[in-house]
This record gives sequence, C-alpha cells and structure tokens, in this order.
Amino acid sequence: MYSKKIVFIEPSVALEEIYGGLAKVGAVSPPLNLLLLAAIVRERGYAPHIIDCPALGLTYGDVIGRLKKINPRFVGLTAMTPHIMQAGKLAKAIKAAVPEAIILLGGAHISSVPEETMLRFPDIDIGFIGEADYSLPELLDTVNKGNAASTVKGTISREHSQLINTGQRGEKIKLDDLPLYAWDILEGFPYIYKTPLFAAHRTPATPILTSRGCPGKCIFCYSGCHKTISTYSAEYIINMLKHLKERYDIREFMLFDDNFVTFRENLKKLLNMLIEKKLDLTWSCNARVDMVNQEMLNLMAKAGCWQISYGIETGNQRIMDLLGKNITKEKVCRAIDMARSAGIRTVGFFMIGHFGETQETIDETIEFACNCGLDDFRMTFFTPLPGTKASLMADEYGAFENEWEGMNLFSPVFIPRCLTKKQLIENQKRAMRKFFFRPRPVLSYLKMVKNPIIALRGAYMLGQYVLKGNNH
Ligand code: SF4
Repeated sequence: MYSKKIVFIEPSVALEEIYGGLAKVGAVSPPLNLLLLAAIVRERGYAPHIIDCPALGLTYGDVIGRLKKINPRFVGLTAMTPHIMQAGKLAKAIKAAVPEAIILLGGAHISSVPEETMLRFPDIDIGFIGEADYSLPELLDTVNKGNAASTVKGTISREHSQLINTGQRGEKIKLDDLPLYAWDILEGFPYIYKTPLFAAHRTPATPILTSRGCPGKCIFCYSGCHKTISTYSAEYIINMLKHLKERYDIREFMLFDDNFVTFRENLKKLLNMLIEKKLDLTWSCNARVDMVNQEMLNLMAKAGCWQISYGIETGNQRIMDLLGKNITKEKVCRAIDMARSAGIRTVGFFMIGHFGETQETIDETIEFACNCGLDDFRMTFFTPLPGTKASLMADEYGAFENEWEGMNLFSPVFIPRCLTKKQLIENQKRAMRKFFFRPRPVLSYLKMVKNPIIALRGAYMLGQYVLKGNNH
C-alpha cells in the first residue's frame, strides 16, 4: 500500500508519572525532534501529522481515535529511556487497533540498545539508530516502493523473525540544509506548552536547539558517550528566531543545546547579530563550566541571555573525575563568578547517589552547592542510562535496578555501596531545603518576578518543589 500519510506521536505520559506530586511544576515542551522530522518528510512530499499526547492530555483511546480518522501508513514514535515503556505500550495499542500501520521508533533509547528494545517491544516494526534526518525519508520511500527496510542504513528491522541492524550511518548531518521545524502543524503551539519552573521571563516562550551533541565525555550522559557534534550557522539561527517571533510572537527562548558554547566562532557571530539586529529577545542556555569566559558571557548578556545552567553534578572532586566531567571545583566557582559579573543568573545541576558516593561526599556536595555562588539549584538521582559507560560500570559500585520502568531520574535506581535508597531520598530533600531556605535564592527569585500573581504562583510551586523534593 503506497501512502504519504505519516503520524508522529509523542507518547502519553501523565505529568504525575514523571514528577509525582510536583506535576504542577513539570514542564511540557514541544517535541522538537518530531517537529524537525515532520518538516523533513513534508519536503519530500509526505503529509505529516503530529500528536503530542502530554501537551494535549490524550489517552491511548484518544490517540487510536485520531489514527483511525487519519489512517496513516506510518506511525513514528519517539522516546528516551524515561518514556520507553509508554512508547512500547502505545505501540501495542496501535498495532491492535490499526494493524496495517507500520510502527517506527526513534530516539536515544533505541539508538543505545536497539536489539533489546526491539525484542522487548514486538509491536515496533522498524527502529532508527542515531540521527534519523536522512534515514527516515529514505526508509519511507524504500518501504513505499515495496523494498525491505533492511536496505536502509541506520535502521533495525524484522525479517523472517530475525532482527537486521544496519548500524549507524556515517555521514555528518548538514543542519543548515534541513528545513525549519514544522511548528505550523503543532496543535496549540505555543500557548498550551508549559515552561519549566522559573525558566522564562515572559510568555509565550519556546525551547529551540541551535546545535547537537557536546564535546564532553561524561560517562553517564548519552551525548558524552555518542560523539557527533554539529551546529546551525548563525544566519540560520537568526532566521529561525525571527520566524518564531514574527509568526508566533515568541520573544523568549530556552536554548536546549547540551552545550550552547561549543562552537565559539559561530556563537560570537550569532551574539553580535542578535545585538546589531535589536530583535528584543531574551533567552537562557546550558554550558560547560570550562568552555565559558568573561568576554563571551558579557556578550551573551548583551545579546539577551539572562540565565545559564551549568552541569556540576557533585561537590566532590574524586567523583567529578570518576564521572569524566573533566572540570574542577575551582573552574565551577570561576564560571559562576564570571556569569554573575556579566549579570547572568546561574543554575547548578547536581545529582545524588554517584559511584563512590558516601554520606561525607553528599554533605560536601550540599555545602559546595550552597557556597559556590549559585542562584538556583536542581538535584536528580544518578541514573546509569542504557548505552552509557556508566551502565557498564554500575555493578562494580553498588546495587543497580537495571529496569527501564524506573529510570526517570526522579527516583533512585542505583544505590551506592555505603548508602540506602531511603538515605538517598532523605538527603535529596535535605539538599533542597538547605539550598532554598537561604536569603540568596529567595532574593534571586524575587528579582526575577515582577508580576505579583506570577510571584505568588511561583512561590507556591517552589514551596512544593522544595518541601517534597523531586522523588515521588
Ligand atoms: S557536559 Fe553535559 S552534555 Fe556534555 S557530555 Fe557532560 S553531561 Fe553530557
């Protein structure tokens, strides 16, 4: 059956499933990867639809109802490890209700463990390994012509009850050759999307990606373990920002790049263009502490950057080294100081329950987080995700519940030798209280919020966040 209809689905995940009692502070972001793939296949003559279940609050029944109306040949799902079980369940429901649809799955999880994922979820017909920008349109054309999926590089498919894995594609993706994301087919965009707690100065706001990958080699991170890095040119990024401003009135951006400062020359050009063009945009980003400098941060602030998030992970140097962070506590403090001098707010991302973690290293981390000058703080549980180096090392350092179901970063699945699960949860709550019940973070939040209604709502949400912690 030849057909150009494809439906991309972000699987349904109730916010409560991810954030527990903190669902009210949970963010719902547009599915950027699906938006781009939809735009790519549209350029090739396909008719894409996007169903974003978390944003629309859809049940499996709702999704099936929509699919029956559209009657697509292809259904494309995406999932990282925290959502893989929902993707598998949705695939099963789709296969039962719309058996003629070919179910595709992409994302970091299947890219990391393709065979295990295909064996675990027999309703997935074809998986993508790595970036699917080139392999997806090629696959659709191939299958539509009646040829086998196994002729397409970068896929895993089933043939005579065997799995055929054609391996990663070798070519570098030229981001500037790709179309703009298909925001125009995203129902409710931008108004139904929720920004993370205190992540935006003004609304509507949206996340975007200006580059892919990170030069870091952190053992727990998918980006650190899979080395492809690429960027859009400064001109392309400006065009994307202008499009979002003119078409959707968006002036606030969350740059979700793993490390926004990887491509220095391009970044400098982009910042100067933002300043010259006076686009009146504000934005926040993530960066490695060892890749920023004062001149860069000053220019970023001038170009509209008001917040920068640093991945710090721990306050113990031995653990930092073990994680492959390749940074020092001194570099962390310097990066925070430089951001503050530039007038940029700082957020530190930490984890608890590392390899070799003890009560002493936890205390050291909490002290460090409270005293290194950060304005804001997040702490999740260290999780050896499939396909990372950490997943291969976990048994050496403690007890690892290697079940995809529990790997959401908000509940501990790895318990270091000297600690218990209960201790990890209690210490995480203690860290939140110690950090936030101090004048500095409170003042920093107050400075951010000028509207009293937003301030009250924010205070309520922050109170819930601090008192309950991240875990369920
Ligand atoms: S610096 Fe951040 S994004 Fe880069 S590899 Fe390390 S954890 Fe991943």
